Amino acid sequence: MTLDEKLEGIYDDVLRRNPAEPEFHQTVHDVLTSIGPVLAKHPDLAEHKIIERICEPERQIIFRVPWQDDAGEVHISRGFRVEFNAALGPYKGGLRFHPSTNLGVVKFLGFEQTFKNALTAMPIGGGKGGADFDPKGRSDDEIMRFCQSFMTEMYRHLGEYTDVPAGDIGVGEREIGYLFGQYRRITNRYESGVLTGKGIGWGGSQVRTEATGYGTVFFAREMLRTRGDDLGGKTCVVSGAGNVAIYAIEKLEQLGARVIACSDSSGAVHAPRGIRLDELKQVKLSERGRIARYVELDRDATFVEHGNIWDIPCDLAVPSATQNELTRRDAATLLRNGCTMVVEGANMPTTPDAVRLLEEAGALFGPGKAANAGGVATSALEMQQNASRDSWTFEHTERRLESIMTSIHRICAETAEAYATPGNYVCGANIAGFLRVGRAMVALGLV
Ligand code: NDP
Repeated sequence: MTLDEKLEGIYDDVLRRNPAEPEFHQTVHDVLTSIGPVLAKHPDLAEHKIIERICEPERQIIFRVPWQDDAGEVHISRGFRVEFNAALGPYKGGLRFHPSTNLGVVKFLGFEQTFKNALTAMPIGGGKGGADFDPKGRSDDEIMRFCQSFMTEMYRHLGEYTDVPAGDIGVGEREIGYLFGQYRRITNRYESGVLTGKGIGWGGSQVRTEATGYGTVFFAREMLRTRGDDLGGKTCVVSGAGNVAIYAIEKLEQLGARVIACSDSSGAVHAPRGIRLDELKQVKLSERGRIARYVELDRDATFVEHGNIWDIPCDLAVPSATQNELTRRDAATLLRNGCTMVVEGANMPTTPDAVRLLEEAGALFGPGKAANAGGVATSALEMQQNASRDSWTFEHTERRLESIMTSIHRICAETAEAYATPGNYVCGANIAGFLRVGRAMVALGLV
């Protein structure tokens, strides 16, 4: 897609000032391609240089994380926190522990998060962080030591009114526990609202664990509703087998769909009769094992080492592993096999040329910025419960999540309609998010 001249200049500047950060360039380009019509309607946003300001993080923190393995060997990892935009509230966004984590990846995630958080209509700004630490194969003690070392630097940048991290790839309840324990120890403050994704017994919220996956499926259901359709009987393929994937599978099954495949970085599992959730949870959550182990527990399923999950025919694809995992070639295969809908559980898992192909073919496409916002929205509900020293029931919290996802869907659909791109959720999400953040930035003065 081409940008108009003014936006092209802004994008060139982003390329120049942020070299060798392809994921960050990609997400900025995605937003800039949508917002041309907004500037025509709201020239004040251009006058205040909102786009230029929104593309520049407020603060970028990079730090050394030294830690020792069980054999006593010393390792040095690199930690990051990019505090992207706090116009709407404290920086909010997860921490990722994965060897591919670098500044450009964290900036892409922080930029996405800023728009996503705005879409939730909750008082949260955008941020993201993590480390290039690889937790795979590490003992519990090694994970704890790493988390403690990470927090020993990170704590000074956090606070319930400043910056509130959560989990992401490689960071779940166990890691949040170790991080929170170290924060509490250093500061001598039981400041529950400083991290979300905590355990239910120590300040966590019901439904936070399930929220991203459940929310993605609620969003998919709303999209189908616009075509008078529902999830009943739909055949689905969900990539990944982590937090987002597992709970997307759970909600899809609850709503009558059949999930026939999932994956991890070692390969894909194909279960034509449907993935058995208890067995999947045993392998991935209890044993923390590889996905190949699943087929030992479900004899109807087959494991394809390094297999491409998008080759498996389905009605609905839910990429829920990582960025750029669904390419144009994959999109072409999905379409050829009869797939009519892709909804992103992960952040930016579909490459731009794949998105274009899906849109041209008339498939429904739900971008992660909107579709996977249920996780951060429920984190905001966790902060709300922490602030009022309250805890809500599962049912109440799930109803709140459902209603937030319905609202996000509505604002995306209405905005797409208002800007002459009906049914285009990418434009709807980018424009609606941009308007909320941009208006707040104008109101706050030159920040
Ligand atoms: P998890 O660590 O729980 O699971 C990630 C899954 O994706 C694992 O199965 C992992 O396989 C697979 N995966 C990760 N990286 C790669 C890779 N490079 N190639 C192939 N497979 C890979 O993470 P989450 O489920 O929390 O996150 C998944 C996605 O959802 C990410 O894009 C994240 O940013 C996004 N997201 C997460 C939210 C949350 O609340 N957790 C909120 C919103 C978005 P393996 O174990 O083999 O590496």
